[in-house]
Amino acid sequence: MPRDQPRRPKLAELISSDIKRWIAAESLGEGDRLPNEKALIALYGCAKGTIREALKILEVEGLITLKTGPGGGAVISQPGMEPASRMLRNFLHFQTIDSQQVYQLRKLLEVELAVSVVGLLSDADFAALEANVAACHCHHDDIDQRRQRFLELGFHQLLAQACPNPLLAFVCHFLNDMLRDLVVVKKAYLPERKQFDHANCTYHRQLIDAYRAEDTARVRHLMREHMEDAERHMAALEAEMAAQMLVSDDVAAQATSSPLDALTHADRLVSSNALITSRGSDHDRNQ
Ligand SMILES: [Zn+2]
Repeated sequence: MPRDQPRRPKLAELISSDIKRWIAAESLGEGDRLPNEKALIALYGCAKGTIREALKILEVEGLITLKTGPGGGAVISQPGMEPASRMLRNFLHFQTIDSQQVYQLRKLLEVELAVSVVGLLSDADFAALEANVAACHCHHDDIDQRRQRFLELGFHQLLAQACPNPLLAFVCHFLNDMLRDLVVVKKAYLPERKQFDHANCTYHRQLIDAYRAEDTARVRHLMREHMEDAERHMAALEAEMAAQMLVSDDVAAQATSSPLDALTHADRLVSSNALITSRGSDHDRNQ
């Protein structure tokens, strides 16, 4: 069978889809219960195993929680952002995505997201943002580069959490997750980027001030500049990384016992991506 030809859905999948439609039609929400197993078996006229499989599908999708024992059953739950983000990242896992492509989106979306939260940040949000900037700053001299990147990404994740548009929040959150994934790739060499770190830190501080003043125009201006600046740093990092790879090739050619020999070409490309990413994500480091 050709790989892309759609297969016929299994009975359990049809039932799980039907239950999803029913949940929507009845406007059921978090904490509401589905009919018990016996009732579902009678309703669909199928075997217990099929109903259990259908419920398992809904559980894996994060739509219900299955509780065992007396008073147990299927309870509707609100799916979190993480499983959806993870599936999308899996989808993109084997595709080559460079920093330019990520920033093509970030330059637009992070700016819109930044503007959308003006006037919506609570005292707790401000405290979290301040703590994030302080953590970036106080570890500046000795902090692990990955941790620094994560902290920078964390700043943007905090803003995403306050965004009133769930779709915009999800896409920005997803892009940050993707940058974070790239940073944690093994063997990634993360050159120091103090200038970049410093710039990010400064932008974050200025953004917090603009949020306190509820100055929408300034927030828009700062975030746009911050993203453009980050993109430039990323491009410089990519160039540095490319140069380093050339040097590595020379060394490898001269010394066959070099540990560099153990690095495949693919590994190097991955490392290169990770570098790039880590740079771009400077905004966001920790979560
Ligand atoms: Zn940032």
